[in-house]
Amino acid sequence: MIEKSKINEIVSSYKKPVIATICSHSSLQIFHGAKQEKLKTIGICLQGKEKIYDAFPLAKPDEFIFVDSYSNIPVSELVSKNAIIIPHGSFVEYTREKIDDLAVPILGNRNSLIWERSREKMFNWICNTGLKTPKVYSDPKTIDRTVIVKFSGAKGGAGYIIVNSYEEYVQKVDEKKVMVQEFIDGIRAYPHYFYSPLNKTGYPVSNGSIELLGVDRRIESNADEIGRAIYANAYTKIGFTVVANEPLVLRESLLCEYFEIGKKVSEAADKLFGGIPGPFCVETIITQNMEIYTFEISARIVAGTNIFANSSPYSVFMSKKPLSMGRRIAIEIKNAMKANKLNEIVY
Ligand code: AMP
Repeated sequence: MIEKSKINEIVSSYKKPVIATICSHSSLQIFHGAKQEKLKTIGICLQGKEKIYDAFPLAKPDEFIFVDSYSNIPVSELVSKNAIIIPHGSFVEYTREKIDDLAVPILGNRNSLIWERSREKMFNWICNTGLKTPKVYSDPKTIDRTVIVKFSGAKGGAGYIIVNSYEEYVQKVDEKKVMVQEFIDGIRAYPHYFYSPLNKTGYPVSNGSIELLGVDRRIESNADEIGRAIYANAYTKIGFTVVANEPLVLRESLLCEYFEIGKKVSEAADKLFGGIPGPFCVETIITQNMEIYTFEISARIVAGTNIFANSSPYSVFMSKKPLSMGRRIAIEIKNAMKANKLNEIVY
C-alpha cells in the first residue's frame, strides 16, 4: 500500500484540485455536484461511453481521459492535472487491489476500501461498532433458523441463497468461501452519511461531525416483486440482484438511532484504521419490533445517492442550495483546500 506521506506530498503540490472518477455508477452526480461548485472535472472513460454525457450536458465532465480498461488508471496524467479521485462502487470493483498503490490522492481513506473488500474484515468492523448484527454461523452444522448464504465474489447480492437447515445447506451450497448469516425479516433502510473531520455543524462525532444526506432501499430482483410471481404460480426461487434504488423517509423518531449508527460506524473506523472522511452508507434492516440490524457498510459513495441528485428530504434541512452527495463532496474539497487541510480528507 502506498504510504500516506507520499499522498500528502502529492496533494500539497496541488494548486486547484480537479475532481476525477470513472464514468460509471454515480459519476453523473459527482460531476454535476462538482460543476455546481465550479470545480473542474475529469471523466476516466472507455471509448464510446462519452455519448452518455452528451445526453446529460450538465453532468458532462470538462475533460475525458480515454482508457482501454478501467483497471488502467492514468496515474501521472491525473496527478499532473491536480486530480483527486472520488472512489465509487464501480471504481472499487474495476481497480480491486490496484487501488491500494495508486499514486493519486483518493477522497477518504483507502484503508477503508480494504476493510470493505473482505467480508470478514467488514464484519469485524461492524462488530466493533457495538450495533446489533445478524448472527453469523461459522459452522453451518449449527444452522438453527433461516439463513442467507453470501458468496465471496457476488456482486450486489446476485446469487445469494436462502436455506433453512444444515441438510438444505449441504444440498445447495458447494462453495467453501461463504458467509452464512441469519436472515432478518423486516424493512431495509440504507442511510447515506457524510463524515467531515473539518465541519463541526452536523451530528457530533469524536473528531468532527456526520451529516445524514438521504436514505434509500434497493429494488432487488426478484425479491421485491416476488408476491406477483407467487400469485401467478411462476415462482422459482428468491434472488437479491440489485436493479435500482428508491427513496425512503424514515419515521422521524428513528432519526436519533440512525445518527447513532452513523456515529458508531465512523468512530469504529477511527479506532480500527484511522477514520472514513467523506461519504459512507450502512445497510440495515428494521424488524417489526423496531430493532435495527446492521449487516454491511460501504465506505464510499453508494448508487442509492443517485436518487437525490438535486436534494433529499434531509438535505433541504441542512442547506439552502440544492445539495446532493456529489455536491457535498465538492464543497468538502473546496473547504479543505481553503483551510490548507486537503491531507486530512484524502489518502
Ligand atoms: P449485501 O451483499 O450484504 O449488500 O446484501 C444484498 C441484499 O441481500 C441486501 O440488500 C438484502 O436485500 C439481502 N440481505 C443481505 N443480508 C441479509 C440478512 N442478513 N437478512 C435479510 N436480507 C439480507
